[in-house]
Amino acid sequence: MNNALYMDNCYLKEFEATVESVKDDKYVVLNQTAFYPLGGGVACDAGVLLRDDEEFPVVYVGKFDDKISHEVSKPGLKQRDKIIGIINWERRYKLMKLHTAAHLLVSIFHNKGNALITGNKIEPDCARMDFSLENFDRAIIDEYAKNANELIQKNASVKIHYMKREEALKIPDTVKLANKMPPDVEILRIVEIEGIDRQADGGRHVNSLKEIGKIEIIRVENKGKSNRRVYYDVKS
Ligand SMILES: [Zn+2]
Repeated sequence: MNNALYMDNCYLKEFEATVESVKDDKYVVLNQTAFYPLGGGVACDAGVLLRDDEEFPVVYVGKFDDKISHEVSKPGLKQRDKIIGIINWERRYKLMKLHTAAHLLVSIFHNKGNALITGNKIEPDCARMDFSLENFDRAIIDEYAKNANELIQKNASVKIHYMKREEALKIPDTVKLANKMPPDVEILRIVEIEGIDRQADGGRHVNSLKEIGKIEIIRVENKGKSNRRVYYDVKS
């Protein structure tokens, strides 16, 4: 997936590409792309593909047969067309903040509450995570959020690097997640909040914790011991 430009640069807002194929006049595969496809419980990017002055809005991005497919709401793109892709930055940046905030919360819930994440869904206007948590108490969850905001204030770099699978498996905190990776993945992409958390992950993140702003717990729902649901948002 080295044609997925967001993997190494989450801040790339515009890129040039060539159309590789178009299916049903609306599913467009490019030779390279900065558009993130829906995955890992995190919403996809939106934006436009520009051919000269003509705009083809991207309404959905998915990954099929290991190729990133852009669904456009206007027909007419053809194979070998040269395009400029433009990411809807407001949406993307919000998703980056929410995703890094999720990693921070997961590490605090894990370290302080021995909780494991059992599910998540991150969309620009609604983000939630499910935890298996013994004691379900709003005050405790607010306390964890306070810890998270203190760490954001102190700030830390968020770094993306690659590691051989066997090397990553030796580090205790990435083992659990690394094991979930398909066995044929030799090189893992590691997202590290320096000094705080390290996870194998293919998503988009901010460069530093400060960019998150402030995490707010919106509400919590009890869906059983293994599904304590926490809704949160980030505010600048
Ligand atoms: Zn993640």
